[in-house]
Amino acid sequence: MSEKGFDHFNLSDEITRALSVLKYETPTEVQTKVIPLALENLDLVVKSQTGSGKTASFGIPICEMVKWEEKLPQALILTPTRELAAQVREDITNIGRFKRIKATAVYGKEPFSKQKEELKQKTHVVVGTPGRVMDHIERGTLVLDQVKYLIIDETDEMLNMGFIEDVETIINKLPLDRVTMVFSATLPKDVESLCHKYMKNPVNIEIASQGVTTSTIEHHVMEVKEADKLSMLKAVTVIENPDSCIIFCNTKEHVDTVFAELEESNYSCEKIHGGLEQEDRFAVMDGFKMGNFRYLVATDVAARGIDVDNVTLVINYDVPMEKESYVHRTGRTGRAGNKGKAITFTTSYGSKYLKAIERYIGFELLEMEAPTTQEVAKSQAAFEEKISGRRVVRNNKTARINQGITKLHFNGGKKKKIRPVDFVGTIAKIPGVTADDIGIITIHDSMSYVDILNGKGALVLQAMENATIKGKKLRVSKAIK
Ligand code: AMP
Repeated sequence: MSEKGFDHFNLSDEITRALSVLKYETPTEVQTKVIPLALENLDLVVKSQTGSGKTASFGIPICEMVKWEEKLPQALILTPTRELAAQVREDITNIGRFKRIKATAVYGKEPFSKQKEELKQKTHVVVGTPGRVMDHIERGTLVLDQVKYLIIDETDEMLNMGFIEDVETIINKLPLDRVTMVFSATLPKDVESLCHKYMKNPVNIEIASQGVTTSTIEHHVMEVKEADKLSMLKAVTVIENPDSCIIFCNTKEHVDTVFAELEESNYSCEKIHGGLEQEDRFAVMDGFKMGNFRYLVATDVAARGIDVDNVTLVINYDVPMEKESYVHRTGRTGRAGNKGKAITFTTSYGSKYLKAIERYIGFELLEMEAPTTQEVAKSQAAFEEKISGRRVVRNNKTARINQGITKLHFNGGKKKKIRPVDFVGTIAKIPGVTADDIGIITIHDSMSYVDILNGKGALVLQAMENATIKGKKLRVSKAIK
C-alpha cells in the first residue's frame, strides 16, 4: 500500500501540490496507517518515533480537514518543547501553504503580546507548549470553542517533563465533540491512563521502532584524553571535512569552549544551548537550516525534534550520559534516505556510559584510530577550501515551498476598517492574477501583510502602487521579512 504514493488518500489539490513540492512521494509507514483513520475522524493512539514522518501523519489530515473560512482555531497541537512547537508549526504551514492554512506557535520565553496579536488573526492551527497554552486560555486570548482536533505529540516526553496537570487542565477545557490523537515513542502507564481517561475507543497503531541501524549511519568511537579533545576535534573535522556537522557537548561550558576554539580557527560555526535567549536559539537553528554556517556546537537542546536535512557528521565531544540521548543526537544524521556518520569521543573505551549505550542500541561502536599528523596535513587544503565557501543546502523544504511567494506590506489595517476580503477583491481584479495567487493575509491595526503566490509578487506590487483598497490609497512595499 505504501508503494502507491499519496493519491489514494483522495487529498485536495492544494495539499497534493504541497506534498509534491516538499517531495513527499511515498507515505511512510506511520502515514499509511494514520492518514486514512484520521480522515475518518477516529481517536488514535500512535506509538512511533521521531523521524518516522509522524508530524505529516497528523499534519496532512488536519490541513485537509480544517475549514478555511472558520476564524477560530480548529486544531490544537501540544508539544513538550518550544523547538518542537516551532518545527511542527513550520511543517503544518508548509503542508497547508496552498490552502492558506495559518498555523501559530505559542511557547514561553517569547513576548505574550506578540502571540496575542497573532491569535487575533484567523488561525486554523495552534501549536504550543502546555504552560503557554494555559496562559493564553486563562487570559482569554486563545478561544477553544471551535477546536475539533487535539494532538498530543511526544506524550511520554511531555509527561516526563511534569506537564501532566497542565495537559489535563487543557483537555478539560476543550469541546467534548472532538478527535484526539496521541503520539508517543513509548507507552508507559501514565500515557495509557491519560488516553483511557480522555479518548473514545481509540484505535491503537504501533509502528515498529526502526531502532538504531548501521545501514544509514556509521557509528564510531575514538579514545581521546580529556586534554587532547580540542585538538583531536580539529584533526577529525579536517579529515572528515563534512558538508555539515553538529558537535554535541554535555554542558554549556563545553559548548562555549569548543565554539570559542573553532571560531578562533576560522570555522564557519555557531553555538546553541539552553543559556541563550530563545530568539537566538531559533535564529541559530534557522541559520543552520539555511546553510549560513557549517558547524553547530550544541547541547542536547538541539537533539530532539529538530529537523535539519543533510547533517553529514555528528560528533559527540562528550559521551552522552543518557543512552536515549545517543539515539537522538546521532539521529540528526542519516535522515530521509541520506547516509551519515557519527563519531563519539570517549576518554576510556571501558566507560560505563559507553557500555550502557552499546547495550541499549544493541551493537558495539566501531573503534576508530586517531588521525595521524601526516593524514591531517594531507587533507588540510581540501578542508580550507570547503570551509571558506558557503554550504549548499539542497533540500530546504521551507525555502522550496516558499519559492515564488512574495510578502507585501501595506500601511493600513484594522483602523482603516480593512478586511481580508477587501484585499482579495482588489488583487484578484489585476489582469493575470486570480484569487488562487493570494496566500495568507494578516491584518494588524495599522498595517497588513499579503502573501502573493506563484511568482506574481512583482506584478501585484506594481499594480497596487496605483490602486486603492476600499477607496483608500495605501503605501505598498515588499515586506522585509
Ligand atoms: P518527523 O518524524 O515528523 O520528524 O519527520 C521526519 C522527516 O521526514 C522530516 O524531515 C520530514 O519532512 C520527512 N518526511 C515526512 N514524510 C515524508 C515522506 N512521505 N516522504 C519523504 N520525507 C518525509
